[in-house]
Amino acid sequence: MLRQDYHIHSELSPDSTASPDAICGQALRLGLEEVALTDHYELIEGVTPIGSIRKEYLAVSREKILDCRSRWEGRIRVVFSIELGQIHLQPEAAEQVLAANPYDFVLASLHRVKHRDLSLFDYQSVGREGLRSVYAQELLTIAGEGDYDCLSHLDLIRRYPAFQGVSLRMEDCMEITERILRQVIRRGKGIEINTTAGALAEPLPSLEILKTYRQMGGEIITVGSDAHRSEDVAKGFDQAEALLREAGFRYVARYRERKPYFVKIE
Ligand SMILES: [Zn+2]
Ligand SMILES: [Zn+2]
Repeated sequence: MLRQDYHIHSELSPDSTASPDAICGQALRLGLEEVALTDHYELIEGVTPIGSIRKEYLAVSREKILDCRSRWEGRIRVVFSIELGQIHLQPEAAEQVLAANPYDFVLASLHRVKHRDLSLFDYQSVGREGLRSVYAQELLTIAGEGDYDCLSHLDLIRRYPAFQGVSLRMEDCMEITERILRQVIRRGKGIEINTTAGALAEPLPSLEILKTYRQMGGEIITVGSDAHRSEDVAKGFDQAEALLREAGFRYVARYRERKPYFVKIE
């Protein structure tokens, strides 16, 4: 069983209404030992000018999450985390955000390309391969240069086209996918298996990418539901566990003060 969910959004994220206590309560009922509250911080070109990070928001999140951590101490460990979007667009702002709070774990995400959220493209009409290539190039920059612990939902570019009946896979551009994974491994970082499947029948990334990462020597992997409601905590974890085993993983990573350690998959 996987006893930690390393990707959960509380009500501090604009797209979630789950209170940190509701998330911890649900995790405890499910037999989990740890939850990483990875609320969003999106860096958006032109919208987040350098030097104007949302300090007030970061202070509120610190207070709420650290309070929650002490309330649940001894029952559930709350891992103070952040899902930082588009680090590569404003590395200095990213640095300030990360310096503002004592994070245990940092997920790096790429939610936007060409100034638009990936969920908003019309994948029937857009130049899909060109878009995937921009996505992969930007992810490569993040992987090679960003300050993060794990890359989240590595093939997110697959999730949204699936809602429109379109298949767009990173497995069809394995050369650059392997370059991304090589940077992750070289820098001692990790990836996650993300169980919010959307219209897909399996978590992100696919088994083929998980196997490639493992065969290249990748060891650090976290598991996250990307839950935006407390009832979705640890959803899809049975399938994730089966995929991890099939890809050759025997351990998953947890983090303290941004340092990984391994827990055996029992
Ligand atoms: Zn995300
Ligand atoms: Zn997320």
